[in-house]
Amino acid sequence: MAGKISTSGDNMFDVLRNDRITINVGGFRHNTFLTTLKNIPDTRLSWIAENHPNSSDYDPVLGEYFFDRHPRIFTEVLNYYRIGKLHCPVDVCSALFQEELSYWGINERDIEPCCWVLYKRQMNTEETLKTFHLDNARKASRDGCDNSKGKESGRLLVYLDPRR
Ligand SMILES: [Zn+2]
Repeated sequence: MAGKISTSGDNMFDVLRNDRITINVGGFRHNTFLTTLKNIPDTRLSWIAENHPNSSDYDPVLGEYFFDRHPRIFTEVLNYYRIGKLHCPVDVCSALFQEELSYWGINERDIEPCCWVLYKRQMNTEETLKTFHLDNARKASRDGCDNSKGKESGRLLVYLDPRR
């Protein structure tokens, strides 16, 4: 891409202007370059960059793309294209982060080691809770009684939830 940019003043600015792109995610506008979006191939954003502006998500009047997705998570997603490293927002649930990653076509295995441990721990907690509720539902339907469910899940939540 650098090779395409002419060193003579006006042309260079033209190229940079044409390469600029605005992505509106959940009401928050993000500006970047098409070339940046091509940094992570085989993802939703790289597809958009390759096919710009032929996407139903593009608004030719406003000159921007619009996605009704989580804006703060998108900040980390876009940063991944900029720096080549994917970090998790600390205050976002891993299950939600995974859902957004899958929408943008990014593999969770691309998460950096510094964030991976916390991400995985939260996902495991989620799995444990699912299994626990499933076991309780089975037990309740076997006993024909639902009394134990609320009490036990309450105890488990106290144990797993760091806010309590
Ligand atoms: Zn990190």
